[in-house]
Amino acid sequence: MDAPKKKLRVATTSLAGCFGCHMSFLDIDERLMALLELVEFDRSPLTDIKHCGPCDLGLIEGGVCNAENVHVLREFRRNCKILVAVGACAINGGLPAQRNHLDLRDILAEVYHTSPGLAPGSAIPSDPELPLPLNKVHPIHEVVKIDYFLPGCPPSGDAIWEFLTDLLAGRTPVMGHGLLHYD
Ligand code: SF4
Repeated sequence: MDAPKKKLRVATTSLAGCFGCHMSFLDIDERLMALLELVEFDRSPLTDIKHCGPCDLGLIEGGVCNAENVHVLREFRRNCKILVAVGACAINGGLPAQRNHLDLRDILAEVYHTSPGLAPGSAIPSDPELPLPLNKVHPIHEVVKIDYFLPGCPPSGDAIWEFLTDLLAGRTPVMGHGLLHYD
């Protein structure tokens, strides 16, 4: 009897993302069962694993907007043989990078301190447990080397499936026009 094939280990995370790319990943629907024959999940919002261990593949949703995002992204890069930027936010900062046109201090003051309707005494949160926001939102390739970029906001389930099946089979993913979009 053949020994069972070793499963590939896959980690996923959402940095400054909206979880929409993860939801689109789940849109592969019943193909998830076929995928689970080939892979096992490491750190991911879909598991309870707190830190990324050695992995074959890391999928990153979201850009980098705070110090914790940087820390997590570097942990993924250290541990994943192949790292993929999934979705517009990871690739170019996406819609959250619209805040780059504004001054971070003004945004925080507006949201937490001066907006009408806030309770008296409201202030910008300063608990050291909270990650410090970065002045700008960055695409992930500005922080670590990225091996592949899968565009879309989000990429469709079909695009994610096509991309993963190519990668898992050791092929360079090639996306046809029908699957490649940026919106
Ligand atoms: S690319 Fe779109 S769907 Fe994905 S995390 Fe960003 S906003 Fe959400």
